[in-house]
Amino acid sequence: MSLREILTWPHPLLQAVCPPVEAVTPEVLALAEDMLDTMYAAPGRGLAARQIGELARLFVMDVTWKDGERSPVVCINPDILERGEELASMGEGCLSIPGVTAQVERPTSVRMVWTDLDGVVQEQWLTGFAALCAQHELDHLDGIVTLDRVDDAQRSTILDAYEAQV
Ligand code: ZN
Repeated sequence: MSLREILTWPHPLLQAVCPPVEAVTPEVLALAEDMLDTMYAAPGRGLAARQIGELARLFVMDVTWKDGERSPVVCINPDILERGEELASMGEGCLSIPGVTAQVERPTSVRMVWTDLDGVVQEQWLTGFAALCAQHELDHLDGIVTLDRVDDAQRSTILDAYEAQV
């Protein structure tokens, strides 16, 4: 187990697009383990490789552990195939933008495909918090953060609060 440093915004590495993972190698398994350890220690419910400076299309999430049971999910090369029509806006925190939240409107359900740690392709409709969390983490792999998903007025309000605490 090793904990990794989480990069904070506006670190330039947070704004770059990640290339796909070519194969589930021992290095990828070790990275996923470090990411889960780092996420639980933070503590958070999702973490993208990009947030610890790794250039890999990979994120981890666990949307239940703060309520009791752990249910870690490792998503390699995730992609969204379909989005539900219903939208919802939730206050989203981000381990890379600590101390502030952004009201981001997203579809409440998405059909996502990804490769798991056994190299098996998984496909599932995610709903509720899992859907929002997966979309947030997938955004990181494309260099997008919550600040890029809100209007200018909200962005400047959030940035004022963020910069005031640094
Ligand atoms: Zn985030």
